[in-house]
Amino acid sequence: MTIRPNFPPGGLRLLGARVPASLADGLAAGAADPSSGLVTMEIGIGPDGRIGRPSQGAPAIDLAGRIVLPGFVDSHVHLDKAYTVRRTGFPKGEGSALLEAVTLSMADIPNRTRDDLPRRMERGVESAWRHGTVAMRTHLDTPDEPARSLSWQVFDELRARWAGRVALQGVALMAIDRADDAGFAERCRQIAGLKGIVGVFIPPRAATPARLDALFRHAADAGLDVDFHVDETLDAAADGLEMIADSIARTGFSGRVLAGHCCALASKSEADLDRILGKVAAAGIHVAALPHSNLFLQDRSAGRAPVRRGMTTVRQMLSRGIPVHFASDNVQDAFFPYGDFDMLEVLRSAVRMGHLDDVGAWIGGCYGSSVAATGFAAHGRIADGAAADLVLFDAQDWLDLLSLPHSDRIVIRAGAVLPGPASALRDLLSMEFA
Ligand SMILES: [Zn+2]
Repeated sequence: MTIRPNFPPGGLRLLGARVPASLADGLAAGAADPSSGLVTMEIGIGPDGRIGRPSQGAPAIDLAGRIVLPGFVDSHVHLDKAYTVRRTGFPKGEGSALLEAVTLSMADIPNRTRDDLPRRMERGVESAWRHGTVAMRTHLDTPDEPARSLSWQVFDELRARWAGRVALQGVALMAIDRADDAGFAERCRQIAGLKGIVGVFIPPRAATPARLDALFRHAADAGLDVDFHVDETLDAAADGLEMIADSIARTGFSGRVLAGHCCALASKSEADLDRILGKVAAAGIHVAALPHSNLFLQDRSAGRAPVRRGMTTVRQMLSRGIPVHFASDNVQDAFFPYGDFDMLEVLRSAVRMGHLDDVGAWIGGCYGSSVAATGFAAHGRIADGAAADLVLFDAQDWLDLLSLPHSDRIVIRAGAVLPGPASALRDLLSMEFA
């Protein structure tokens, strides 16, 4: 599918674009408004679809101060589980809702067939693309050999099909005890052969120093980055993240490490939190806060209202300089039965759950962390020479951006406007009232 049919041959000038100054590399002519972090500027798009100089006489559009963001980078999703909640049902909140969701999801594995997987995974990537996502990292349940995994075969085809539209990375997700297996080194070699990342789910109290050290040594030998699901609980005793930081210090692991969830930090004492965040900062760990699945699963208990929110200590991480960002995680599955891979919706939830109202102060670091944690280096900036991958909103400040649904947003990829989503409802009405 071409996405450049409407691209003016000489390029385009977007006047009066309001952009976070922290995301506009060297382009902003004026000073940013100190309270919002936004700067009003012209974005030039060259004939090659990159940010730069358009030809003389190229059309100019005045955005009159509307917000423009770089295309979204979504660092943590589960395409293999997406849109299965009508099959799995909901966790009831009897005991750990997370472990209930794991059980429901595992019972659905026989339904993940050669026919089913590509259909749902394609739907997820297409939805993300239409919402303005340019790069996405998905976990893929990989209990058995990665090289023989149907999910990985389907993902490999998906990644090739979407190249140039949504850059895709795959994470081979398995439980931490796999690191004990004699075949773990071979498993890591297979993941490297698939250009994947090793993904580790750490159930409560399952981490040990020996297991983590073995994991990091094998990952280093195979040249793999590591991506964790860790401390996805409000139990203050959960110590997976601290053990990861300690293991990095012991092994000297130098690959990228991304830690998802880290909810338990919100239950720690001030002294424990201070100690752990110090170690996380020293180890260079990136944190992915996942507001939707945390809001749904944490503090879920049948018959009573939730009290705690579940999201990790983003505010304290920001003040310690720890790189932290947000991601979709689960979409319409047993872990989160709502959503549709819309990163604006994720940001909106994060701001409201985490009291992160000063968006202009952290949005640059948020994009920066999602790029640095994954290595999607070509994305996430409005910079001279970068692909003109932009999302335009009918909003002139953060309040409007985070209050309205923005289903009318305009997604520009390599300078050209994506086709709007199909609307069966609109088609129906136009037929009825024609
Ligand atoms: Zn996840």
